[in-house]
Amino acid sequence: MDERARDQVIVIGAGPVGLVTALRLARAGIPVTLIEREATLAHDLRASTFHPPTLEMLDELGLTAPLVAQGLEVPTWQVRKHETHEKALFDLAVIAEDTRYPFRLQCEQWKLCELALAQARERDEIELKFGRTVESIAQDDTGVQVRCSDPDGGRCEIRGRWLVAADGSRSTVRALLDLPFEGLTYPETTILVTTRFPFEDHLPGLSRVNYVWIKGGTFSLLRLPDLWRCSVYAAPEESPEQALEPERIQAKLRRIVPSQPDFEILEIRPYRIHQRIVEHYRIGRILLAGDAAHINSPSGGMGMNCGVHDAFNLTDKLPRVYAGENEGVLDLYSRQRQPIAKEEILGQAHRNRTRMLEPDEDERLRTLRDLQATVADPVRHREYLLRSSMITGLRKAAQIH
Ligand SMILES: Cc1cc2nc3c(=O)[nH]c(=O)nc-3n(C[C@H](O)[C@H](O)[C@H](O)COP(=O)(O)OP(=O)(O)OC[C@H]3O[C@@H](n4cnc5c(N)ncnc54)[C@H](O)[C@@H]3O)c2cc1C
Repeated sequence: MDERARDQVIVIGAGPVGLVTALRLARAGIPVTLIEREATLAHDLRASTFHPPTLEMLDELGLTAPLVAQGLEVPTWQVRKHETHEKALFDLAVIAEDTRYPFRLQCEQWKLCELALAQARERDEIELKFGRTVESIAQDDTGVQVRCSDPDGGRCEIRGRWLVAADGSRSTVRALLDLPFEGLTYPETTILVTTRFPFEDHLPGLSRVNYVWIKGGTFSLLRLPDLWRCSVYAAPEESPEQALEPERIQAKLRRIVPSQPDFEILEIRPYRIHQRIVEHYRIGRILLAGDAAHINSPSGGMGMNCGVHDAFNLTDKLPRVYAGENEGVLDLYSRQRQPIAKEEILGQAHRNRTRMLEPDEDERLRTLRDLQATVADPVRHREYLLRSSMITGLRKAAQIH
């Protein structure tokens, strides 16, 4: 067996989690083979929010400055009532002593992937294998054996000492290991609509991130550098298919800005939301990270961030094993990350979703008053933002030994 096959880490998936994992391992001097099914990076609109601790982590890789340059800083975000414009305005300035980046960054996740891939191409430690699909895995006492196919029917075998499964929510590795992915799929279909329409000129006091109750429904408006992404839902009397008809999408946007006859729409993308998590992130020599291990409602913008935090935790520990520390430290990775994902991320995302889908007007008003009271109290405001900015979860994880 050659030296590389004996020593390397095989990382599956060139999403944000796999790429960050590969880069950090390479910087620790560990050889990596990164296997990606697609021939190129995906550019579809997925995560668009980077939270403060993620920006701190990515700074170590020199990725934060270029991301900030390509994104939009969001110092405040809000929950509001559409009809009255009443709102609870959260201001990240109150956590300025807790983070170097007291803002959410609105920036497409593919920009992180492109920046990380450009770095990966420069690193001798990283071998990139795009256009290869992992089809089987086997592990023994000394390593992991992976079998891949390519679109021309070719096959290859790759061996490594450890394997990181960052192969996303439909993880092949998770399926091959037959790991239960416990949780649920929410009944509603979210419809993501992108448009350059200037909502900020029509809705007074809008932030760049807004979660909005509108009579009988809800929508969110998240700003990206050159467009708004607006999430809307089917009305009770509509089927998910009907709700996607172009005229019905126009009508949904006209409910937001009635004076506008027609909206230029760039993209309409329906998706279902799941909340699921595996029990353990380590199965022998195989480590799960990111969406392969946990998925949640995008409400609050935490899924990708949580995966990047997995990647940093794991790549703090893997080099320690290479330096001679007991492999048990990799169980600590699972012990620190799994419960935090479950309680802090899945739990919070679920509460965010439930809050905005609440149909009862009185209950909405009670919630709004409670959020306004939180914002008015400096201690509660800070605590709320530490949690929603994912800092509390990381602090809790650090206390687990
Ligand atoms: C509409 C939407 C909005 C979102 N908004 C946010 C947000 O604002 N903030 C946030 O933090 N998160 C958000 N998320 C979640 C976020 O996009 C994911 O959490 C993130 O992409 C997970 O990254 P990953 O690297 O774990 O997986 P992925 O990005 O899914 O990457 C997995 C990679 O593995 C590859 N792969 C899969 N199987 C194989 C195989 N067998 N062999 C080889 N390669 C394989 C895939 O091709 C893919 O490139 C959103 C998601 C959606 C859908």
